[in-house]
This record gives sequence, C-alpha cells and structure tokens, in this order.
Amino acid sequence: MSFKEVIGHHQLKKNLLATINNNKVSHAQLFCGPEGSGHFAMAIAYVKYLLCSEPKENDCCDSCASCIKMNQLSHPDVHFSFPIHLSKTNKVEKSDDSLIEFREMCLKSPYIGLSSWNEQQGNPNKQGIIAVKEGEAIIKKLGLKSFEGGYKVLIMWLPELMNNEAANKLLKIIEEPPKKTLFILVSDTKEGILDTILSRTQCINFNGLSDEVIADELKKNSAIATEKAVHIAQLSEGNFHKALSLIDNENKDQIFLSMFIDWMRLCYTRNISATIDWVDDIASSGREQQKAFLIFTLEMFRQAIIGHYSSNTLTILTSDQEKFLNKFSPFINHLNIIGLNDTINKAYYHLERNANPKVLLLDVSLKFYALLKKQ
Ligand SMILES: [Zn+2]
Repeated sequence: MSFKEVIGHHQLKKNLLATINNNKVSHAQLFCGPEGSGHFAMAIAYVKYLLCSEPKENDCCDSCASCIKMNQLSHPDVHFSFPIHLSKTNKVEKSDDSLIEFREMCLKSPYIGLSSWNEQQGNPNKQGIIAVKEGEAIIKKLGLKSFEGGYKVLIMWLPELMNNEAANKLLKIIEEPPKKTLFILVSDTKEGILDTILSRTQCINFNGLSDEVIADELKKNSAIATEKAVHIAQLSEGNFHKALSLIDNENKDQIFLSMFIDWMRLCYTRNISATIDWVDDIASSGREQQKAFLIFTLEMFRQAIIGHYSSNTLTILTSDQEKFLNKFSPFINHLNIIGLNDTINKAYYHLERNANPKVLLLDVSLKFYALLKKQ
C-alpha cells in the first residue's frame, strides 16, 4: 500500500508527505476517522514512504528492499498492535500471537473493520482487547535496536480498545520515546481513547469517503457495472471496508443461489445419483458455510411463499432470483412450508452438534423429494 493506492484524501497525503520531506515527523500520531475511511491504509503508506530507501517526491519507490518487505507487512522495524481475543487454551495473550491472521487480513485489503476481525478470530460477538502483555511486548520490541538502522515504528490499530493497565505501561515510552521511534495510532472512535494517551498524540482527522470516490474505486478495481457501483457506494456510508464486504456478501449469495437452484431441481426431479454428487460437493465445504447455506435456504423458502401469495413484494431480488422464484414458488405452499422449514431447522441443529454433513444433507434431500410433491 503506497500513497497512490490510498483512496481519496489528496490534501492529507500532501500534508503527510511534507512532514517526512521537511523532517518534521511527530513521534506519536493519531490517525482518526470512521471505519473504512482509509486511516489504516494511510498509516501503511506513510510508514512505507518513511522507510523507503529510494523515495520519490510524492511516493515510495515500491521496489527497494524496504518497500518489498512493507508489501508483505513483514518489515522487521515495523510492529503491529491490535485488539485480540485473549485465550489461555490457544495461548493468545499479545498481538504477535495472532499476527499471521491479522497480516493475512490486511494483505487482502488494508480497509479493515473490527467486526470482520472479530469474526476471523472465531467469534463475531466477542470484543477484543489490547491488554497488559501487549503493553510489555511493545516496550520490549521498541527497546531493541533498529534492524535496518532507520526508524522503528509501532502501528496500533484501535487504541480505544486498550485497557488502563496496558496504557499505563506505555505512557512513558509515548511521552519520551527512544530516538527515531514512531507511534501511529489508528482509531475509529477517538472518544474511546484514554485521555492520558490522547493528550500525548498529534491528531490527524480523516473524513468518511464520498459516494463518488467509493463508486469510482469499485468500478476501477472490481470491474462492476456503474449502476451497481453507485448503489453499493450509497449503502457504504463512506466506509470502503463496508463496500468490499457488501460485494463479498453478494458474491456469496450468488453462489448460494445457484446451489439452491440446483438442489431444488434435483429434489423435484428425484435424481438420486446427481443429488448424491450435490451433497458430496457441499459436504466438502466448511461447516460454517453449510450452516450459512441452510439459513439462505430458509430465506429462499420465505421469499417463495411471499412470491406465491403476493408477487409484488419481491423487490430486493436480482432478476436471476426473481426468474427462478417465479417458476419455483408454486411448489412451496401452505401444504409443505412447515415441513420444509422444520427439516432445515432440525438439520441446522444437528449440523451445529457435529452431525456428518453427507448423511444429514442426503437425508434432508430425501425428505424434500416427498415434500415438494405435495401440491
Ligand atoms: Zn522503496
């Protein structure tokens, strides 16, 4: 991630470049703005430029040894701190214990979001924390000599999730850091940061991105149609992370839709050998994927019922879904909907309790053979 890849924020880029080119790098900076505004991406670009050995006037060279390491987020003098799900059993007590996963997420896109990160750590509802062990680890790392002879950098994502104990450990080093040490704190909610930390940083504010900027970026990089890009941009509320998630979810829905259509056709035509192939296919995907597909199936049944009884409410469907549902909805009706829903709900229950997906989904399919015939 270099400056040219950061979306929007032209004036901010100029200002930040000037601090480096005029040798006025403040040692503790707070990049704050709403999620997905690009403050984390900018932090990476800023550090990459700062450490680049052949910097140009407006951006890094993107090819020196330092830039190449930054492209992998594996520069030995750049450390990352971020909230984690503490776990004794998995031995997760400081950020480095989850660094591989964090790095993987950031390399996919530096427009990162907390709920996605929580989900990636295995529990979307659990709040992460930057705790005292991390405070200790930071002091230790920044106390070491720089590997490459230049700056040592700590990028802390979401300092608002650092607890008192960890913050107290860091007060002194943020106040009087060792030479050529840079702290960049990247915050979504400045109000949540402890005053003692806040007062020691220089704040740089990021606004949410405009709909136009987001739509242009989506068209450029995801090759999606203008109309759709504009629609997604409007739903994103200035948050590029959300825009990417919306596209991702929609892609998943499209995959689920074609799986659902295949499945219903097979069940209706009672094609047993093709049904077994279909079951083998979905059974080879992950359990979470299978559960998500069952939820999707319930939703499709619900929409089919709506389509069956009042076809005018189908406004949120794509034309693909609508076409299929129009043909399919007469097969879902008051005679079988309870049985169909019940079968899915039970399957979900057993899937959560580690039932064998092959046996389970074949059984569900056979029940559907009978249920879809009830007209
Ligand atoms: Zn370089």
